[in-house]
Amino acid sequence: MHATKKVLLVFLPSESGVDGARSLYSEKDRNTLFSWFNRSLRNIIKQSQFAIPPLSLMILSSIEVQGVEQSICDMRFEEFPFNETWDLVGISVQTGMAKKAFALADILRSKGISVVLGGAHVTLFAESCRPHADVLVLGEADDLWKELLTDLTQGSLKPHYQSDTFPDLAFSRPVMKTSLINNRYFTTNLIQTGRGCQHSCDFCNVHVLNGHTLRRRAIDDIVDEVARFKKDDGRIFFFVDDTINADPFYAHELFRQLTPLKIRWFGQATTTLGQQHELLETFASSGCQALLVGIESIETISRNAHKKNQNKAGELSRAIKTIRNAGISLYGSFIYGLDGDTLDTPSAILDFISDTRLDVPGINILRPIPGTRVFERLREEGRLLFDPLDITAYRYTFGQEMLYTPKNIPLDAFIESYSTLTREIFSIKNSLGRGMDAPRVKAAVLLFNLFYTHLYSLSRHDLKQQLEKDAH
Ligand code: SF4
Repeated sequence: MHATKKVLLVFLPSESGVDGARSLYSEKDRNTLFSWFNRSLRNIIKQSQFAIPPLSLMILSSIEVQGVEQSICDMRFEEFPFNETWDLVGISVQTGMAKKAFALADILRSKGISVVLGGAHVTLFAESCRPHADVLVLGEADDLWKELLTDLTQGSLKPHYQSDTFPDLAFSRPVMKTSLINNRYFTTNLIQTGRGCQHSCDFCNVHVLNGHTLRRRAIDDIVDEVARFKKDDGRIFFFVDDTINADPFYAHELFRQLTPLKIRWFGQATTTLGQQHELLETFASSGCQALLVGIESIETISRNAHKKNQNKAGELSRAIKTIRNAGISLYGSFIYGLDGDTLDTPSAILDFISDTRLDVPGINILRPIPGTRVFERLREEGRLLFDPLDITAYRYTFGQEMLYTPKNIPLDAFIESYSTLTREIFSIKNSLGRGMDAPRVKAAVLLFNLFYTHLYSLSRHDLKQQLEKDAH
């Protein structure tokens, strides 16, 4: 009889963002007040449990194969357990954290531990990952993982696993939380309802990675999962689906059936919800507290330039007011620096926020993610600021780094206007005001706004440093 195979799934922290505020350019100034403040705040943020568990690893660790024992190492909270023996280590690789993932993979392999790499970066750039892995998993791994673990028990792992089709999510795959340590996270109640998006925004990789067809889980499975999760953790639920209202009939039925469970939940939706009145009512009565909506741009030219075609710019304001009037707080995500934007755009954003009383505005700079159409276009137009072949340079940051040259605005003027915009929006007074004004979860809205007050000060500091560095 073979011994049980031990598999560890690893999640790496990002450079900056909700995993902990971190200056990209001044961390080495160990003794400065600035670095001390950042480090202290990073700890507070961790202790405030802003972090949510890595859903993809929860899903994989729930796949049972006889003779295999799986656990999760979340390196936002712990070191890699080198003192234990592992038969296989799986690392989830995102572009921007790929160098860190490759470095860990190389160390593990030098110790004779087999490494499997998977995730968005591996799916899009398999060849760059091959030298660092024994096994690559390309695409959504739900079905492939069982095959891989079965091969592991039989000593017949293949160099790569790939499927020609997306997994059918209607097939029942219960998710377990046994590998998670509850008190590390804001909540462990993460529920995926579906994948895919029918839209084609050119800066987004959701439709590139998960396809244009909406794939939904069976409603019965989700209701069972919510009831089961609630027994272990009474905190808020987070529905992880980019456009939970994309199929209104499905969403209506799902949340109608969830209403008797009396949960409180967050989710992500499109602003079209403001026109889906019956669904909006069902969301509110089923316990929806707050939603993240991708506003992206209020400039029609920018929306057209980046194929953000759902909802017209002129309808956004009414939609946001309608959703807030239903008693749901809103996090609205903007991108400044799109191809139709000018130096007048910041004042339009300010007016929009004040008119709609948006609860948490997220003011992003366009991030050309390798593998998206906008990345290719900016590369062809010679507007990328880092070597396009060094795809790992295109990391996620919190508005802390310019990765491209805006179309209509010189770089230094853009940075100045972006900094002025975030300084105005996230003044302490405005952040407090939004917290008090939120229709739901006031404390969370206030905390987020204050957290952003700090993060955007880091953004201004780092952008200035980048500009000065590039000038030399
Ligand atoms: S930004 Fe949102 S709506 Fe646009 S493609 Fe991505 S997930 Fe879909």
